[in-house]
Parts: sequence; C-alpha cells; structure tokens
Amino acid sequence: MRLGRTIGFAALSMSACRMTEAVPGTGATPDARRLRSDIAWLADDRRDGRATGTAGNDSAAAWLARRHASLGLRTLPGEDGYLQRFVARSAQLAHAGGPEGLATQNVLALLPGRDPSLRGEFVVIGAHFDHLGRSPSSAMDPEARDAIRNGADDNASGTAALLELARLFAARPARRSIVVAHFTGEELGLLGSQWFVDHPPVSLDSVTAMINFDMVGRLRNEKLIVYGVATARELPSIVDSANTAPRLSVSAVGDGFGPSDHSSFYAKGIPVLHFFTDLHDDYHRASDDVERIEAEGEARVVAMAERVVRAIADRPMRLTPVRVAAPAPMAGGRTGSNVYLGSIPDMSAGDAKGLRLSGVRAGSPADVAGLRAGDVIVELGGRAVKDLYGYSDALYARSPGERVVIVYLRGGTRSTTSVILGTRGK
Ligand SMILES: [Zn+2]
Repeated sequence: MRLGRTIGFAALSMSACRMTEAVPGTGATPDARRLRSDIAWLADDRRDGRATGTAGNDSAAAWLARRHASLGLRTLPGEDGYLQRFVARSAQLAHAGGPEGLATQNVLALLPGRDPSLRGEFVVIGAHFDHLGRSPSSAMDPEARDAIRNGADDNASGTAALLELARLFAARPARRSIVVAHFTGEELGLLGSQWFVDHPPVSLDSVTAMINFDMVGRLRNEKLIVYGVATARELPSIVDSANTAPRLSVSAVGDGFGPSDHSSFYAKGIPVLHFFTDLHDDYHRASDDVERIEAEGEARVVAMAERVVRAIADRPMRLTPVRVAAPAPMAGGRTGSNVYLGSIPDMSAGDAKGLRLSGVRAGSPADVAGLRAGDVIVELGGRAVKDLYGYSDALYARSPGERVVIVYLRGGTRSTTSVILGTRGK
C-alpha cells in the first residue's frame, strides 16, 4: 500500500491544480484525466477504504458535497445541505455482534430540468461511494487481514462517473430533472439506497428511471454489461441507439434485480439500468487500486451513459415499467445449496422480528405464493425466522421441489401461504 499512497498523493496534487483551472461546464465530453484523478482521490489510502461509519467515508462524503457545490448543483428539500443523514442498521453487522447502528450519509443533489412541463419528473443517477475499509469480513482476501481495501473500481469508478455526468448535465440540462445520488452503506447490504427509497427526497411516483454505476473502471475488450434492459419496454432500443460508433461490445441483460443499489429502486417498480465493466481478480481485494483503472475506457462508458440518460430524460413520454420474469440467478446464497424462493430480502436490521422483503421476483415461487414487497416472513418450513440469518438457515435447510409453509406479517396481520421451492440456475 505504500506505493499506492505515493502515487495517490501525486495524483491528488495534480487534481487540485486542475480543479482550479477547470471551470465546471467547460468540456462537452467525458474527461478521462478527471475521472482518473477523482478515482485517485477516493481510492487514496488516506480515505482508509471508505467503510460506512468511518472518518474516511465521512471525508469522502464531505468532498462529494464540495464537488456538488462547485458544479452549482442544487440541494434537495428536507435534507442537510447535500447530505441525507441516517443511521445505517445492518443485519450483517448486527449478526456479527457489530455496532447497533452507524451514523452515515448519502450525498444527493438536484439538476433541475429545462422543460417546465417535464421538470416535475426525475431520472435518478446513482453510485455507491462506500467500500470495505479494512474489514476482511466480506473481502476476497481475508489473508490480507486489515489491509486497506481502496475500492478503486468498486466503487470509486462509479462515483467519478457520476460526478462527470453531473458536470455534463449541469452544462447542458435535460428536459426532466436529474437527481444525483451517491449512496453509502452499499457493501453492508444496499443500506443507503434502501434508505433513499424509504425516505425519498422526491416522490418515487415521479421517478421514471434509476441508472446505477457500480464498477465501471475496467473496460476490457470493449465489453460493457448493462443490466436491467427488460425493466421498461423502451430500454432495449434506447440502450442500443446510445451505443454509437465506435461501438462498445454491449451485453444487455434483462433482470433488474442484482447485488447493487438499482435493486432497491426496481423493488419499488422503477425501471433501472446498471452499467458494469465486469468482475476481475482484484474485486474486493486490497489490490483494487487506481493504477489498474482504465480511465479512457471509463470515459467511453460515461459517454454512452450520458446518451442513455439524455434519451430517457428528454423523451416526451415516461418509460413503461415491466416486471421481468427473469430466470433464477445462478449465484447461490450459500455454497452447496441451489434452493430458490425468489425473495429480495431487505438487508437492513429492522425493529420487527422477522425478515422484511424489499421485493419479489416476478414469476418466482415467492411471487406464485402471493408474497409481496413489505411482507415480513416470521416462519419458514416450521422454523422461526428472526432475521436475515435465521431466514437463510431455514431456507437452505430445504431442497428444491419441496413444499414449505411460510408465515408472514402484512400490515400487522399474520397470514400463511405454502410454496414449492425452485432451483437456482433454471
Ligand atoms: Zn463491492
């Protein structure tokens, strides 16, 4: 990490000079040098890996707020300037005997639309700025123990992309308004985006789409993955049309649920996209540093994303949301089990005993059984469910094809349903 620190320092001093020269809104195209210097600042050892509730994370939030101010972005009503403060309560931390709650903040801003008749509708562009800090618990390199995980790609890259998009849209506003949302708490279970959708600064009914940037700094062989294209009828053609020459090799995937912040929005019925330049060997390791970022490639991703956001924000009609009946994801929740229910758990630690669902996959066993977003599962297959972990234990004790009884609370009423468990990867 010593090398990273030295290079990070050099990049920081350069970025400080450049920021005084560059007037926000000059330069009509994404700037690879600025992307790199922003990533270098966020992924510097001095941010200590930006873990939620730490000084490094708070320092990154304060820096993002200053960047919003220098871009001339507006604050949202009801928040503390650009900061949306809350106490993150993580089921993961609570289970591990960690702190009950972590005081933290999303960093939000508003870019008002230029069309008075469409300005009351919003496109949310989002990226999480938190990372793992020094914690080995969800790292892929626990042997590195308390080494700083700087998260240059995950997700300083998306954070920098968001700043660049904010600059481009401040220079040339869209017809609809844009909410810029830097989320905290993602690595602890999408806590910042879950807080945002549960305490929205603008009405969620007026949000026509959420576009998420998580890990966009490693474009290789021109290959970009865009998740969520089936979540609105118009998205496949919008994404394809935005891929102008020189074209990227785009893999468009339908599903709107995935392990990042767009899931929180899709669970509320909002069309989503997630831009992603794919996994790599440095993922969740101390080696995810700025030296391995492909800034020129990221600038191409941002250019395409700008066209997508403009198309969505400028079109006369809102998008038409679709509930995607996507196949069960391959990735199992636990090694050795392929049992599948299709529930999207809320990973924050609530007051209620049980597991709250933030959503349910269309066509999944949970959907067929009548479970819905907001339901709290308190019993599964005869086992009491007190939290996320009790739920996993109860579910993974069963096998695909088995019928199990689920007891759940909906609006305080206790109900029972029965469900035939499915198989992952089918
Ligand atoms: Zn991550």
